[in-house]
Amino acid sequence: MAIIVQKFGGTSVATAERIQAAARRAVATKQSGHQVVMVVSARGHKTDELVRLAEEISTKPAAREMDMLLSTGEQEAVALVAMAIHALGEKAVSLTGAQIGIVADSTYSKARIRSISTERIRKHLDQGEIVVACGFQGIDDHGNITTLGRGGSDTTATALAAALQAAECQIYTDVEGIFTTDPRAVKAARKINEVSYDEMLELASLGAGVMHSRSIEFAKKFRVPLRVRPSFNETEGTLILGEYDAGVVTGLAMARQEARVTLGELPDQPGVMKTIFTRMAARKIPVDMVVQNVAQSGKAEVSFTVPEEELADTLTAAEEAVKELGAGFVRSGTNVSKVSAVGSGMLTHSGVAAQMFKTLSDEGINLEMITTSEIKISVLVDRSRCDEALQAVHRGFHLDAATMPAPTIGESRSSRISRKEDGNLLQAVVSKLASMEDIVVSEVQLDESQALVSVHNIPDIPGTCTQLFSVVANGNVLVDMIVQNVSHSGQGEVSLTVPQTDLAHCRELVETLLPSWPGATLTFEPKIAKLSVSGIGLRTHTGVGEKMFSALADAGVNVKLINTSEIRTSTVVAAEDGLPAHAALQRVFGLAE
Ligand code: ADP
Ligand code: ASP
Ligand code: MG
Repeated sequence: MAIIVQKFGGTSVATAERIQAAARRAVATKQSGHQVVMVVSARGHKTDELVRLAEEISTKPAAREMDMLLSTGEQEAVALVAMAIHALGEKAVSLTGAQIGIVADSTYSKARIRSISTERIRKHLDQGEIVVACGFQGIDDHGNITTLGRGGSDTTATALAAALQAAECQIYTDVEGIFTTDPRAVKAARKINEVSYDEMLELASLGAGVMHSRSIEFAKKFRVPLRVRPSFNETEGTLILGEYDAGVVTGLAMARQEARVTLGELPDQPGVMKTIFTRMAARKIPVDMVVQNVAQSGKAEVSFTVPEEELADTLTAAEEAVKELGAGFVRSGTNVSKVSAVGSGMLTHSGVAAQMFKTLSDEGINLEMITTSEIKISVLVDRSRCDEALQAVHRGFHLDAATMPAPTIGESRSSRISRKEDGNLLQAVVSKLASMEDIVVSEVQLDESQALVSVHNIPDIPGTCTQLFSVVANGNVLVDMIVQNVSHSGQGEVSLTVPQTDLAHCRELVETLLPSWPGATLTFEPKIAKLSVSGIGLRTHTGVGEKMFSALADAGVNVKLINTSEIRTSTVVAAEDGLPAHAALQRVFGLAE
């Protein structure tokens, strides 16, 4: 008899009628011959209400008591759902995280699951009961309740599905499934039928609030078949899985409340990134869009983005880093939002970035920072224009129903993406994990085929990146990494990597633009080494960056460029550092032969 996990979000259990509808669905699934585990969130806006109440009572409520308080929302909901099932004449039992045996670490409000004991759940299932489990909570080694972070019930659901080897994990919510972007923000957003784990992981991590990104980590790690479905009708929703027919751009995400932090006038020496990432990791702050500029003066400048709610902690950590490095200043700005495009098809199509930049510059929207990785492009824009930017990019990639399907980039849509080999590597690593949410790093790759091109002192006005990347894409040069930033002094800097065989052509193309940008200069390195660490949850497990940059600094390797994503973190170093850096990274992640 197969186990099905069904998770119901807050809206889907907000009222007595909805609780009864959820109960009917679980009962129907049981009566069709399955064992059913429900995972339930707090009703409606209960968690928000509890947060507000706590804030009225204390400006700085103790983290332990906050978790104790917030966990009650789920406890109320599971009891009501169990009663609704009883009223339908079926057997059900509600259980808290502690009663199930969901052991989590002690990081209040951001706890990670260590292990789940399935014994009690199986006993109830074997007695013919529907198990109704509290989402979002666990218990630490000292018996304290800890919560998994806002939206964490999704993670409880996929973790339970993984531990129980469920046939499917169904996430019931208030939308028809996963959309090309948040349908509340873009009316023309369209439901997607299938999306890969990797794409969903990036979308969720970059701001698509529909799924807790850590839930996708579980799904991918333990190969849980995952479906996001509406709780208000019988449609099939969206399947999240390992392989499917990928489009070029599958979806967009926006993180409205971002902050940019700059550490400037730093000594240009190995270890700068190590110091910064170590300080951030100590406070579990996930950084994104990392850009490093080496100014002509020989001083380094590093900028990155963090969620605005992490800014205060980030600034403290940044000040500590500057102190440790012995020189520098810290600046920050909060009026920015991050818009990201995600799609597995980017792997095989050039010009995706150029098209995105063009769409934005046609709207007169300036790009304050750009970073790319294997399957995503992120840009930072002024917050006052972020909704326009999201809508424009959605239209630009023809993601709206009216114009689909009409891929305009490249010649062919990529074929079915198969990750079977990756899957085997992954399973070998997953089988050795001590704790369920441990970092998974499955591979370190060295690419010695690329060259680095940097353009300095570009005017900081809309359209310059479009010009640059259009010229390069039209010349059929396949650009790999892109990193752009407006430096502290107000000048734009862009770095890109291209195949060594395309370098001469790329230089010719870029040189045609320089006369129109007074003061702009071009530099290049004909040979560089790119190191990529692949795994799952790499950006949000803040320890990965720390380990990676510490290993490189200890090997005396200077880092030139960085790309972060959940599935791959890449860094560019000097060609001669490639082999030693590769060996150092293999060692630190336990992958050495
Ligand atoms: P639940 O309470 O069921 O967990 P959430 O509010 O956490 O529901 O997530 C559902 C909401 O996520 C939707 O109402 C929608 O506005 C938002 N959302 C953001 N991005 C997307 C997306 N790409 N697809 C679908 N919904 C999205
Ligand atoms: N109730 C929690 C929250 O609102 C967890 C969840 O809904 O997933 O964040
Ligand atoms: Mg949710």
